[in-house]
Amino acid sequence: METGIYTERERALLESVPTGLLINGQWRPSVSGRTFDVEDPATGATLLSVADAGPEDAMAALDAASAAQESWAKVAPRERSEILRLAFEGVLARAEDFALLMTLEMGKPLDQARGEAVYGAEFLRWFSEEAVRVTGRYSTAPDGRNRFLVQKRPVGPCLLITPWNFPLAMATRKVAPAVAAGCTIVLKSANLTPLTAQLFAQVMQEAGLPDGVLNLIPTSTAGATTGPLLKDRRLRKLSFTGSTPVGQRLLADASQRVLRTSMELGGNAPFIVFEDADIDAAVEGALAAKMRNMGEVCTAANRMIVHRDVLQEFSTKFSALVAAQVVARGTEQGVNLGPLVDAKSRNKVHELVQDAVDRGATVLTGGSAVDGPGYFYKPTVLTGIAPDSRILAEEVFGPVAPIITFTEEEEALRMANDSDYGLMAYVFTRDVNRSLRVAEGLETGMLALNAGVIANPAAPFGGVKLSGLGREGGFEGIEEYLYTQFVGVSDPFAAS
Ligand code: NAP
Repeated sequence: METGIYTERERALLESVPTGLLINGQWRPSVSGRTFDVEDPATGATLLSVADAGPEDAMAALDAASAAQESWAKVAPRERSEILRLAFEGVLARAEDFALLMTLEMGKPLDQARGEAVYGAEFLRWFSEEAVRVTGRYSTAPDGRNRFLVQKRPVGPCLLITPWNFPLAMATRKVAPAVAAGCTIVLKSANLTPLTAQLFAQVMQEAGLPDGVLNLIPTSTAGATTGPLLKDRRLRKLSFTGSTPVGQRLLADASQRVLRTSMELGGNAPFIVFEDADIDAAVEGALAAKMRNMGEVCTAANRMIVHRDVLQEFSTKFSALVAAQVVARGTEQGVNLGPLVDAKSRNKVHELVQDAVDRGATVLTGGSAVDGPGYFYKPTVLTGIAPDSRILAEEVFGPVAPIITFTEEEEALRMANDSDYGLMAYVFTRDVNRSLRVAEGLETGMLALNAGVIANPAAPFGGVKLSGLGREGGFEGIEEYLYTQFVGVSDPFAAS
């Protein structure tokens, strides 16, 4: 690590992060002894190296998860709940450490990282509360004779794969319901941001999670390392958050063993501003929906669909606000956008901007990378987008807002639904009936009404179409880790 650019506090935090694999309660090196480097996207410096799991390590993690499954499923729900509650408190107690670590390895501004530390912790609290509310039913068969007992059982050992954009929340959103349901876990963090999951696993241990329930395998060879697990009969569930192409590949692999799967995939969210909207609120909402986390959010507004009558006002106010955003290292005071996560991401964002410009788009602000070290990109607003521009069809995953226009409600809906994705939509209008009509007309798993951010651990998060399968959070979240068992009971009144 280049010590000169980091404060004593940052160095001390990095030194405290466990760098091994966590298997059966032990932190250990990989079988190969290999490690991989974690880069700071704001400086290009190496922060730390962590153990690089290979297939043998992954199998050892599944051995541990499988061995722990039976006893873990028998642990009283209240006890599982208490462990999650202690983990919630543990993450909050170290919220500043989690925030700083996320800023260092992922780049997001420290204030936003603090927000994620709390948001991530809240999944632990929500599922600590849900752990004791799993119920079944007892009923009489329609013919009045046999009795039906329907109960929920933990699905068993799970492989959880998380992305780099929300290194804590994407892990707690999966780990917490799995723990609550009585499942054991092999967690594979993203290779760009493994450090937060390392610290999180330590907090789970400190909260009293028994050995083998949570195993952690950071790796630089995701497919080769986790592939064999999908073929192993002991694995019962795959929960994946990441890009649609990788999700599709994993679904195909998982089909061989008809694995239970949850897929939280990419998005291409429309952000619709009707002519009756509160434009100032819409502009604020658009800023949050587009620029938070540098636009590296699956629910990020990807297409601003604005009524022709308010286009001028919206574009002027929005581009002025975007132009005023401060782009700098996430640890600096008053910063709004940090760097993109790596060079590849920044190149892809710029390619999409260039493609739109080549097809005639106008750049209202931004439109290029920031010179100097790190992967910074200027927050950008584009208008006059040709309909065949790639930016309207592909997930941008960066701070770029293309604005397009409509005149009729039906046209806005058609444009919004003209996508393979169906994760999130945003609608700004003051008309209640229109809100409800539009909600029913949109093909998305989630809709933000007059709001720029709606994610909440107590609400079901997920998409339709190429955006995924299943829901995380809410009452639905724990269901993903339970299967339904039907027990038929013979007529208790029949002569025996
Ligand atoms: P990604 O490249 O698909 O990677 C996601 C995770 O999958 C990472 O841990 C990655 O490991 C792993 N992975 C990649 N190839 C794999 C393989 N063949 N087998 C097993 N695991 C594999 O996505 P990303 O770039 O990290 O994340 C951005 C994407 O995630 C965006 O499309 C975004 O929309 C989506 N996302 C969706 C949600 C949601 O809830 N719907 C939330 C957040 C993000 P490595 O890191 O080692 O490559």
